[in-house]
Amino acid sequence: MPSRHSTLLADAARRLAEAGVESPRVDAELLLAHVTGRTRAGLITLDELDAGAAARFAALLDQRADRVPLQHLTGRAAFRHLELAVGPGVFVPRPETEQLVEWALASLAGVPEPVVVDLGTGSGAIALSIAHEHPGARVTAVERDPDAIEWTRLNAASRAAAGDRPVEVLAGDMTDPLLLRALDGGVDLVVSNPPYVPDGALVPREVADHDPPMALWGGPDGLDVVRGLLGTAARLLRPGGGLGIEHADLQGTALPALVRAHGGWDDVADHPDLAGRPRFTTARRARGGAGGD
Ligand code: GLN
Repeated sequence: MPSRHSTLLADAARRLAEAGVESPRVDAELLLAHVTGRTRAGLITLDELDAGAAARFAALLDQRADRVPLQHLTGRAAFRHLELAVGPGVFVPRPETEQLVEWALASLAGVPEPVVVDLGTGSGAIALSIAHEHPGARVTAVERDPDAIEWTRLNAASRAAAGDRPVEVLAGDMTDPLLLRALDGGVDLVVSNPPYVPDGALVPREVADHDPPMALWGGPDGLDVVRGLLGTAARLLRPGGGLGIEHADLQGTALPALVRAHGGWDDVADHPDLAGRPRFTTARRARGGAGGD
């Protein structure tokens, strides 16, 4: 703990706690690190806080207390090995989605140049992580929201500039029967963190007021978009190709049931996140070709 600034940080953390912020101390430290250009650990050797930095810190605290997401204030979100640019207009990637990427990479192990499609990519977190961690992967990232896709493009360009194989960014709707027709039957993996929050569910203010509604809400049971996604995935995947879909913790039975009912899928399974909550469903496109659409 940085002794010189312990009072400043303690006051800041108390203020954020009173405002209902979930991790007040960490957020206060990350904001102070942001304004001083340091890492959180680097705060320990921080001496003087000049007037400009103090004023910037105070202004950011005001916004955080007003429940603006921390990542919008720093402009960055950490996801696996990447730091992505985020801000108004794009869904902030969550740590629980990292496990879905872990599964995706494991399923692609040994495939030298897999064709991968990320449906509803937002910041590009899943697509860009796969491209970064599987250098042979040919990844296409699809996003329908014209505001969000600006962030996808920004992040894709900076990862390509950093040397990752470029991800193709495509404006499109994951439920569109014509989406990516040229890839029909040739895709090795379809992965998605679709909008799945049931309409009317209670979400934190950071989410309700700052994540794009289009990235969150999935109809009465949260699975409206997923229903459309299944048809697209079935069409795109080669026999034996993999599907991974994130879901809400209350959908760990409903989503696998939906996939089974759709037909044309083998090995339907559900997986927990690191907190042990049901988090994503996986399946393989049937090799027999029966069922599905
Ligand atoms: N997990 C997100 C949340 O808690 C929702 C993500 C989504 O709908 N894809 O807000």
